[in-house]
Amino acid sequence: MSHMHNIWMRLKDDFQLSIITLVGLCSLIGITPYTVYRLLEGNMLVGLVDAFIVCSTALAVLYAWKTGNTLRPGQFLAVVYSMGTFLVATKLGVNGLFWFYTLILFNFFVVPPLQSAVATFCSLLAICAYGYLNPEAVFESHYQMTSFIVTCLIASFFAFVFAYRGRRQRLQLVELATLDPLTLVGNRRAMDSELEIALGEHQRYGTRFGILVLDLDLFKDVNDCHGHKAGDRILIDFTGIIKQSCRQSDRLFRMGGEEFVLLLPKLSRSGLEKAARHVRTSVAEQLKSPGGPVTVSIGGCMLDQHPSVDAWMHEADICLYQAKEGGRNQYVISPQHELAHEPQQCPEPIAVAPGQG
Ligand code: GH3
Ligand code: MG
Ligand code: MG
Repeated sequence: MSHMHNIWMRLKDDFQLSIITLVGLCSLIGITPYTVYRLLEGNMLVGLVDAFIVCSTALAVLYAWKTGNTLRPGQFLAVVYSMGTFLVATKLGVNGLFWFYTLILFNFFVVPPLQSAVATFCSLLAICAYGYLNPEAVFESHYQMTSFIVTCLIASFFAFVFAYRGRRQRLQLVELATLDPLTLVGNRRAMDSELEIALGEHQRYGTRFGILVLDLDLFKDVNDCHGHKAGDRILIDFTGIIKQSCRQSDRLFRMGGEEFVLLLPKLSRSGLEKAARHVRTSVAEQLKSPGGPVTVSIGGCMLDQHPSVDAWMHEADICLYQAKEGGRNQYVISPQHELAHEPQQCPEPIAVAPGQG
């Protein structure tokens, strides 16, 4: 039951997957009887071509479902169906030509716009060249061939424009849904999903992750003294400084207000502490409001044995609270699990005062 639900959700969420599946099912249902009929009839060549198309379709659909990758099977099917359409046109003449319009639709639905334009154009060229060299095999007259070319080009042009715009809008939507509009770092939604992915990767492969929760100090005062606009500017500058002072693989998110989360993959607790020290110093040295430096307090902890993202975040929050209590402009990294993973290290003082960092 939940299996059916999963299948339904994937079809609903993944447009490309649903198109490939739909086309795949139609091809399987439509072509399989022909295949059997041709083979029984003794028309081996056509029967084998049909069988090839059926098998390719089944493989491509299976591949798309298994890997979640729809691009490769889409490209593969575009090539197979283009050749199929060519064969049908050369065999059946005008009656087979009609299939070309469905090929155009399929290509533009499944393969990226420019690639489909190339695939469609090549098949059109192949059919017309064959038709031109073999008069009456495909087209009844030059006039008919011209009409075919013109209508195909117009149909392709509209399909291209729709596919291109649709693709751009889809990308824009994804961006809007995951980026914070002010600072252009990931928003809370992006953060939630990436933290879950990190948890999964940790449980499956043992990859170690750390997080730092960053909260600007006395930011309300900055806003009150210099205005909300100056505050916004500082938030933008802040994300710039963090991005400069962390690794390419580290991911910064705005959790809300003047609170941010930095997710750091593949590092140890001491690495996390080093990162926190570096971030704190960089911000204290570089972040300025009209009234002077702005500082940040940081709480951090390793993912390690936390059973859930919530537990992980909660511990980092507690550390952040300690950093604020301790007088701000400092970091606190949770000592938890340290002994389990790094027995060679002596326990260290967990709060670091500004001068020491
Ligand atoms: P603390 O050191 O304890 O964190 O003090 P704080 O003043 O930073 O803490 P508090 O959470 O009370 O205030 C956060 C302030 O951040 C409130 C609000 O004025 C400001 N703020 C939140 N979001 C934005 C924003 O998008 N733009 C601007 N300019 N200010 C914001
Ligand atoms: Mg604050
Ligand atoms: Mg706050």
